[in-house]
Order: sequence, then C-alpha cells, then structure tokens
Amino acid sequence: MLQNILIVEDEPDIAESLHYNFKREGFRPLIAESGEKGLRLALDEKNPPSLIILDLMLPGMSGMELCRRLRREALTGNTPIIMLTAKAAETDKIAGLELGADDYIVKPFSVKEVIARVRAVLRRVEKESVPKYEDEKMSVDFADMRVTCATEDVKLTRKEFALLSHLIKNSGRVATRQQLLDNVWGYSYFGDTRTLDVHIRRLRQKLGDCGNCIETVVGIGYRFIGCK
Ligand code: CA
Repeated sequence: MLQNILIVEDEPDIAESLHYNFKREGFRPLIAESGEKGLRLALDEKNPPSLIILDLMLPGMSGMELCRRLRREALTGNTPIIMLTAKAAETDKIAGLELGADDYIVKPFSVKEVIARVRAVLRRVEKESVPKYEDEKMSVDFADMRVTCATEDVKLTRKEFALLSHLIKNSGRVATRQQLLDNVWGYSYFGDTRTLDVHIRRLRQKLGDCGNCIETVVGIGYRFIGCK
C-alpha cells in the first residue's frame, strides 16, 4: 500500500517539487497550501497520512499551531511530523521539537535530503511500533519481556533485556558503548565501560546458540546482526 505523505506548504514551487519527487519515490503525496487544509487532510480517517511535512511559516494557522492541534488529536497524536522552516533559529527548532515534531529541516534544502529524512523517520517509527522481533532462531516479545532461543526460554535481568532491546531496535547499526550506557543505564551513569562489556558477555552466554546475534565492533561498540 502506498504511504500518504501530507505536505503542508504555501510556497507553490516547493510544494510542487516535493510532490513530484515523493510521487516518483513511490509515496502518495498530498498537498495542503494552508494550515486549515492541512488539519482537514490530516484528520481524514479514511486516508490518514503516514507522515506530515509541515512548513512553519504559513498564512492563517501557523505551522506551530497546526503541530499543537495535531498532537492533541487521537488520530494524529503519534503521526511523525517533520518541520520545514526558512529560519535556522534555535528557538524555533527547540519549540518545534517540544511540540512533538520528530525532525527539523532548514530551508533551502535538497529534496534528496528531505526524502532521506522521511525514510529514516518512517523506519524508526515502524521499528518502535513492532511489539516483537523474530528470526529463524530467536524471538523477543518487547511488551512481555520474553526471550526464546530455539524455542527455549531465556531468563534475562532487566538490564540485559534493555540492552538486547536497544540493540535489536537499532539493528544493523553500530551502537557505541556510550550510547548503550546512556540508553540502558541513563545519562547519569559515569562508571567505566567495562560494566557494559561484562553485561554483554553475560547476555551472550545466556542467549547460548543465539549469542552470535550480537557482533563486537572492535574499539566502538556492538551491533545486532540477527541469529543465523
Ligand atoms: Ca511558507
């Protein structure tokens, strides 16, 4: 099924260029030249957008106001929003992110960059919404904190489970030691990274045959590569 991308942008050149390129990339772009129309299209229950690209400077209802309204609605409360603005003003960026925008692009931008960011946000959202991971050998239920390897239950501590979850949700990418410490132990953690290595070792041991799903990237961190 084609994914709807709602583009709320009053400048016809930009809107047309985004429309043309998203269509070519296999999306179904919808254009709204005002915040009011954007709100109406975003709340179309039969055809809700998968992602919204939102210009901040709009006639009538501003991009910020529209973002606030969208976040309050059940249908669009979690729809990813990427904001566009002509200004690189830090305060706008912070305000936008605080209102719940997922990303921020400063004009002038390249259409390629916008498409790449849209794909990245959609991938992230997709991963976050998946309640389970499964490959040929291992299964992980994120809601129940249940892990099995070759149909055998694996008992993990909370920290080990959090480590495994973070690696799976970023699968294919290297997670640096510091990122893992920040995400699993919190930003207040100042201990040394050996704690992490010890936990990874224990996690691999407990996973047994599935332990090889975590690859060591020497000098940097770890990467989840799936069980083979
Ligand atoms: Ca504008």
